[in-house]
This record gives sequence, structure tokens and C-alpha cells, in this order.
Amino acid sequence: LRDTAVTVAGLGVSGVPAAKALHALGARVTVVNAGAGDAQRAQAAELEALGITVRLGDGDTLPAGTGLVVTTPGWKPASPLFAAAAAAGVEVWGDVELAWRLRGPGAAPWLAVTGTNGKTTTTRMLASILTAAGLRTAAVGNIGVSLLDVVLGEREYDVLAVELSSYQLHWAPGIRPHSAVVLNLAPDHLDWHGSMAAYTADKGRIFHGNQVACVYNTADKETERLVREADVAEGCRAIGFTLGAPGLSEFGVVDGILVDRAFVEDRAHRAQELAETADVRPPAPHNIANALAAAALARAYGVEPAAVREGLRAFRPDAHRIAEVATVDGVRWVDDSKATNTHAAQASLTAYDPVVWLAGGLAKGAVFDELAAAAAPRLRAAVLFGADRALIREALARHAPQVPVTELERTDTGAMSEAVAAARGLARPGDTVLLAPACASMDMFDNYNQRGDMFADAVRALAAGPAGAA
Ligand code: ADP
Repeated sequence: LRDTAVTVAGLGVSGVPAAKALHALGARVTVVNAGAGDAQRAQAAELEALGITVRLGDGDTLPAGTGLVVTTPGWKPASPLFAAAAAAGVEVWGDVELAWRLRGPGAAPWLAVTGTNGKTTTTRMLASILTAAGLRTAAVGNIGVSLLDVVLGEREYDVLAVELSSYQLHWAPGIRPHSAVVLNLAPDHLDWHGSMAAYTADKGRIFHGNQVACVYNTADKETERLVREADVAEGCRAIGFTLGAPGLSEFGVVDGILVDRAFVEDRAHRAQELAETADVRPPAPHNIANALAAAALARAYGVEPAAVREGLRAFRPDAHRIAEVATVDGVRWVDDSKATNTHAAQASLTAYDPVVWLAGGLAKGAVFDELAAAAAPRLRAAVLFGADRALIREALARHAPQVPVTELERTDTGAMSEAVAAARGLARPGDTVLLAPACASMDMFDNYNQRGDMFADAVRALAAGPAGAA
């Protein structure tokens, strides 16, 4: 890259570090950015002080002489900048491709995770298992830890647990993971990718060049198709995971035990026991699936069964992912604010019965019919809030007309404590009240963290109240 004219598309958390790294390598860097507000001007000043050129107010025109474009997630594939790059025969890399190209000889192999839902959970479970096996590892990538920083940093790793988003995979044609998994596929981010087919194809790139194992979900035929169509290294195996009894070359569950029928060394044993479902927190079906996927990647890397169990036991879910907040007067309150799409909400609703469901927010173009129909038998009641609550109300009216629905008119953050108060009046001892909004949060909250925190605060206030018993 020395003396190459590199155009970085975008400032921000991914563009600024990429520009600095490229500059340090001797590239001639120009950053282009459409926005030109105060934050952008401050970032530009920081880069310009280093000798990097920054062009604010135009993200569409390719600077003359560009030899390589490095892009960030804000740029959609249909952006004019990429059409110009293609016309000029210039390659486009994302931050993940850049990190892959800059890793040194003998660098740590990648165990890679993608899917519509469960990426962060599976990546953390995997890192926990690898740590339990005594390996030097880290959970990196889309999880909030820049791959570029890790690859260029001083610390040495044996193996990395890498979460990859569909955006990152779109611009990472050259990566070659040791092994990878696609957990599941459901419509999400279609505005960026353009279509479900394009989104699926981008997810499938994670399998290309895999060395040891491509892991798929037997309950999701699309993930299996992606494995079949992938161009992998010789000897790389297709490994399925299932919540039922596993077939050959699969991971699955038998009598509450997670078992491996893929990497069994002792031929006399037809299956290797790994852990109990009770070792997985929370032991909801979709989360057992995440644990099986993490176990499959770890076993592909050669981790012993005992470390799989130890790592799963040591794992703690990140905040707002099916987190039990409190039990008050026999009612369990669960925060799954991270369920920002219908596929995620459906997974967590499956784990509870009967359930008072708190939902709503920004639908992002989603359709709620399948979710409403699947949830109907378990619902004690629904409490709806946010901009697109009517879409959920209408779906419930079509598929679950017997379920009482409470709607909150107010759309400020105070609606959350009203929702909690309404749910309290509806729930009976033994019920679960589940915040699984199936929607994005930005109509009422800063993000899903704030939404979950306000829910948990309101629940804790209940628990501390005169009638509450935690
Ligand atoms: P991601 O990183 O893909 O957004 P997370 O691990 O953060 O995934 O989980 C996000 C939400 O998705 C969870 O709160 C839960 O509601 C749901 N979820 C987690 N794992 C799965 C899965 N395997 N299938 C369906 N939904 C899931």
C-alpha cells in the first residue's frame, strides 16, 4: 500500500482508524464524507493534522488517481462512488478485508460467526470456550472491537472469535476463515442490500475459502444451501447443528445433553457428550442453538469437550439479551430489548408461556403476521407502544383476536413505566412479562440499551415498592 492513493469512504468509528492505519503504512490517503457537520469537521481536523487529505460535503465523486477504495458501513453498495470505482477498475475493500490483508504471517486464524440473530451471543460463547481451553483469544469484529486494531496491535493471539455483519461481508471478498457459521437467515437490513437474495448472498461469503468446517443450521435450509454453494478449501467439512438428535456430522441435543457427532475421535463412541442444556444461560431453544454453533466452531479448531462445558458455564449474556430483571409477586420480568426484529422476538417468545408481551417501536418495513400467529397460543396479553404499534395491533387482531391488547398513546420515554404498570395489572403469578419489541427503538429512545435500561428501572421500582418481593 506504500504510495498507493487510497480513498477512504467515510469518517466515524471505522473510517478514522482505517485512514490512520493506511497513512501509517505509507499510503496517500484521501477521506471523502458526505456530511460536513461539527463532528465531521473535528474528525477531519484531527486527520489533516497528520497529513491526511479530507474532502467534506461530497461522498459520491471518486478522487482522480485513486488506486484503492476502503469503505465503511454508511455507504450503500448502490452508491455512485462504487460505480465510479468499478468503471475505473479500482478494488473496494471494507475494514474487515483491510484487516485480513494486513495480518502478518503466522497470524491467528479466524473462527467467524454471522447470521440475522445470535451473532454477538455466539461469538461471546465461542470466545469463552476458547479461553477455557487455555487459548489466547478475543471476541472481535462487529461486536464493537475493531479487527484492524487487533490485527495491527501488539498482543498476540492463538485464534480469534470474529463476529461479521452482512455489511462487512459484502466488502470482504478475500477473507479465508478457518471455520465459519451462518446461524439463521431472516429479512433484515434489506434497504442496504437491496433484496433478500443480495443479503443472503453476502452472508454466504463467510464460507468462501473456509479451511476446516462450514457450520449451518439444519432448521434453516438457506444456510445449508450457502454451504453447498461455497468454494471451500479441500477437505473442509459441512457440519450441521440441530435442536433434535444429531445425524452424522451434526451437533445436536439428546436427553438434555449437547452432543457432537462430527468430530468424534474414538470410533467406538458414536457421539461425544459436551455439556448439559442447563449449562447454557438462558436455556431458551434459540440460545441452545447458539451454544451448539459455538461448540461446533470450537471443536473444529480442536478444543476438548471439557473446555466446551467449562466455557459455556462461564458465559454470561450481554445486557438486554433475554436478561431476567426480577421476579415480583411470582411474575418474572425479562428484558430482551435487543430483539429488534420479528425473527428475534419470535425466538424469545417461544421460551415463555404464558407471557405478557411488551412490543413496538419502528417496524423498518417488517410484517408481523407470522410472529402474531406463532405467539398467539402463549400470550396472556400484549402491551404496545411506539410509532408502528398499530401494525402489531392489526396483526394480533387477525391471528390472536382473543388476546387483550393495551396501547400506549404517548411516545416519549415515559411510556415505558406506563407499559410496565399496565403489564403488572395483566400478569398473573407464574407468568413472564417479556420486553421483546420486534422493532427498532429510535422513535422513542436513543437506542435499544436505553429502552432496556428504562424497562429494568421501572421493574426494579416495582420490586422495591410496598407490595413487591424480589
Ligand atoms: P446479533 O448480534 O445477531 O444482533 P445477539 O446475540 O445480540 O444477536 O441477539 C440479539 C437478539 O436476537 C436476542 O436478544 C434474541 O432476542 C435474539 N436471538 C439470539 N439468538 C438467536 C437465534 N439463534 N435465533 C433467533 N433469535 C435469536
